[in-house]
Amino acid sequence: MKTLSFSNGDELPIIGLGTWKSDPGKVQRAVQVALEAGYRHIDCAAIYGNEAEVGAGLQAAIDAGTVARDDVWITSKLWNDAHAPSDVRPALEDTLDDLQLDYLDLYLMHWPVALAPGTGMPSGPEDFRSLDEHPIAETWAAMEDLVDAGLVRHIGVSNFKVERLEALVDAADHAPEMNQIELHPYLQQPEMLEAADALGVHLTAYSPLGSSDRPEAMKADDEPVLMDDPTIAEIAERHEATPAQVLIRWAIERGTAVIPKSVTPEYIRQNLAAAELSLTEDDMEQIAALNRGRRYVDGSFWAMEGSPYTMEDLWG
Ligand code: NDP
Repeated sequence: MKTLSFSNGDELPIIGLGTWKSDPGKVQRAVQVALEAGYRHIDCAAIYGNEAEVGAGLQAAIDAGTVARDDVWITSKLWNDAHAPSDVRPALEDTLDDLQLDYLDLYLMHWPVALAPGTGMPSGPEDFRSLDEHPIAETWAAMEDLVDAGLVRHIGVSNFKVERLEALVDAADHAPEMNQIELHPYLQQPEMLEAADALGVHLTAYSPLGSSDRPEAMKADDEPVLMDDPTIAEIAERHEATPAQVLIRWAIERGTAVIPKSVTPEYIRQNLAAAELSLTEDDMEQIAALNRGRRYVDGSFWAMEGSPYTMEDLWG
């Protein structure tokens, strides 16, 4: 499996298993199936509410001799309600307990958004904290301490726009090594690929298949369905592959890691097999023409009336 390399010699397997919306009743099995199939990278987050079951799946695979801990790359994310520097380490410790681990490979700041302690999703303006109250640089410094303490091997961010990423790289002692963002043929973000390359920051593509199982409240009535795209379908047919495999391979061709989510054993295996597919230059050109700036996870829930955040502030 192709990997992304880090300056300390660590290697991130380019395809990982996503776990957002993976029902606690199903995700343990999904993790075991994935590890048996050959996945060595799992993407988790405290806010997904299923890290204990992900941990149980990982442990079961370790106990069965399928994998050793050090063979698997585990990413998790600091939720927005723990941006106060004194809350960062306890939040990580909860995640480590749930995952039954003593270190993470990568810990990400989930969003450049701060919420009041104990808030999952905000229900009103009182649930927000501004970035003046909890500056990114202060939360980041607390994440750097986790690296120094040996609790996480790498730190990074998620949902950062170019200017915010550049500012953090300039200010940090341990520069962020990853930005996990939405990337797929309908949201190609070429300017972010260029900037991340120049900054030496890796990218991970989330919602690579168009996130069709996200909550209805996050969907627009008229939204295009990425997995039904006729160009993707035609390329898939030509390669005797599935549309999901074409989408995953496209992300790999662009040099990003990619974390398709599935709890269906057949899809989990097919998605990993995308590593074997090869797309031609012509395929890549046809897919390049599909870009339409369409965000499926648009962050509008952070920009509710009375919140200190705006869409402009988030994405530029
Ligand atoms: P994806 O784009 O990965 O799509 C998931 C959907 O696709 C599910 O309904 C799944 O079905 C279906 N699916 C998976 N494989 C196939 C296949 N081969 N054929 C047909 N359907 C398929 O959505 P996500 O939004 O979940 O993104 C992936 C991961 O990225 C997340 O799970 C999470 O780990 C991460 N993420 C991070 C965010 C962040 O803010 N940092 C935001 C959003 C996502 P089923 O499960 O039923 O098999």
